[in-house]
Amino acid sequence: MPKADIHFEVTPINPNAHLFQIDLCLAHPSAQGQVFSLPAWIPGSYMIRDFARQIIEISAFSDGQPVDLVKLDKQTWQAPSVRGSLTLRYQVYAWDLSVRSAHLDQTHGFFNGSSLFLRIDGQEKNRITLDIRTPDGEDYSDWQIATTLPQPDEGHYVAEDYAHLIDCPVEMGSFQRLAFEAHGVPHEMVVSGRVQFDTKRIAEDLAKICAQHARLFEELPVQRYLFLTQAVAEGYGGLEHRDSTALICKKTDLPPLDMAEPSEGYVDFMGLCSHEYFHLWNVKRIAPQQLLAADLASESYTRLLWAFEGITSYYDDLAVLRAGCIDIPTYLKLVARNITRVMRTPGRFRQSVAESSFDAWTRFYKQDENSPNAIVSYYAKGALVAFGLDMILRDSTNDQTSLDDLMRALWREYGQPGIGVPEDGIERLASQLSATDLTQFFAQAVYGTEDLPLANWFESLGISYRLRPAKGAEDKGGSCGADESVTAAYEIGARFTQKGDLVELTYVRSGGAAQLAGLSAGDRLIAIDKLQVTASNLPKVIAASQGSRMDVLAFRRDELMHFELQPMLTPNDTCDLWLSEDDQCTPAQLARRSSWIATR
Ligand code: ZN
Repeated sequence: MPKADIHFEVTPINPNAHLFQIDLCLAHPSAQGQVFSLPAWIPGSYMIRDFARQIIEISAFSDGQPVDLVKLDKQTWQAPSVRGSLTLRYQVYAWDLSVRSAHLDQTHGFFNGSSLFLRIDGQEKNRITLDIRTPDGEDYSDWQIATTLPQPDEGHYVAEDYAHLIDCPVEMGSFQRLAFEAHGVPHEMVVSGRVQFDTKRIAEDLAKICAQHARLFEELPVQRYLFLTQAVAEGYGGLEHRDSTALICKKTDLPPLDMAEPSEGYVDFMGLCSHEYFHLWNVKRIAPQQLLAADLASESYTRLLWAFEGITSYYDDLAVLRAGCIDIPTYLKLVARNITRVMRTPGRFRQSVAESSFDAWTRFYKQDENSPNAIVSYYAKGALVAFGLDMILRDSTNDQTSLDDLMRALWREYGQPGIGVPEDGIERLASQLSATDLTQFFAQAVYGTEDLPLANWFESLGISYRLRPAKGAEDKGGSCGADESVTAAYEIGARFTQKGDLVELTYVRSGGAAQLAGLSAGDRLIAIDKLQVTASNLPKVIAASQGSRMDVLAFRRDELMHFELQPMLTPNDTCDLWLSEDDQCTPAQLARRSSWIATR
């Protein structure tokens, strides 16, 4: 295959030192002196990560002679004006085991183009060729490469432009593969990591889930799709791309060969795959104007992440249910746990999901000990807003229109023609589609901070909803049915962990007992009522107090302090959902419920 005017070569020169070497040959550099830069962030993960700080060596040549590069800022270089072609050689340190940057060692290699490939100023739209090699040596003789970059010849790849180049992550190693077809399109998953699991089970389940999404949109706009999975001891995450996704999961989340009912971990894994797959429409193609225009050099602001992440979070598990891979009680448990997460976030009264979207860069992605008091997740609450929008659309159209229709309309209006969604685009289209003024819904749910009328929305589906006190620190919600009652116990409004001999507070809830007593995150508790406390006996000590005042001794930094702590009753912040009996539901409720969960 002939090289394009822009040609990259990727060589994992030293897995022990985690180094990729990149050679960039540019046939026609700018006569004014070519400028190169690396992105500061990767689409889908809204934080400045300064990938260029991992370039540990860079040099440039023209006609075989070295030329000087001038560094213009933290991520930008300029070459002098040269007569012929220009070659850059640089090394990138790759030791971040995440889906967002690059990782290389003796077990595998993974990279996103945004960590490795310099953007050539003024030539972003040009075609690019690249060669990707595996490391030299016998230890690496069985390594393979997986990516959705088109591959005309073995080891030689081509990208239509820079955006395409950095939207196709690459995995290399001796991974396991599984394949299936959905909507007539070939799909594949590669899994790196030493782990045994039921590849057939994953292929069967994902085939149903992917087909479910494709039926919702009535179209699957890819030629192929690839799941790149890194299976690790501890970890969870995914990043969406146009026709692939990079995932990290726990090895124990993958299904063992003898699994009958899906384990909790496997349900999470199916939800993760489903989530990233839904993104191939919602955010990769139906994309906010603000992000389509992003140059990746600095932040790009949108108030719509609640829709791109929240609607995606709503459909991820719903599609697993609709595909028949989990049952309704399992699904309702997932939803109840998400509601519990939101209800345990006092920050929901301080920040709307629109604000949370806008401030993702400095707040959602830079969380600290006070975050639950100050912010709300546009994922968790965004999924509830999406659910509410689904119910409002059904309410206002006699069940003739649902969120499914809105997604198809967004696809037709913005996704298919490749037009960015304006900041008011979703609101406008939803109102148009339902022939209803939805201003009040959006004002409350998206721009407001009041709690949502969840009980009413669930009631319209014949689903019972209740909030109750937690049964203990492990209670994440979704575990009690109609017949089980839980009485409020006492709590101090703090989370804590054992640190050596002391109990360290990791989070102190606004308005909770610990905060009223003057305790702060980082304080280390020594004794309560002159007896030593540990993380394991503290819950019992709090329960035994029955709400009476306790003397607490704790260190703040190196200073011993005394606090009077009065435990309070556990709040109703834990959600349960269950199906109401059919004979207690109206035909309208039952009809809406079955349309809501029906496979398309
Ligand atoms: Zn997402």
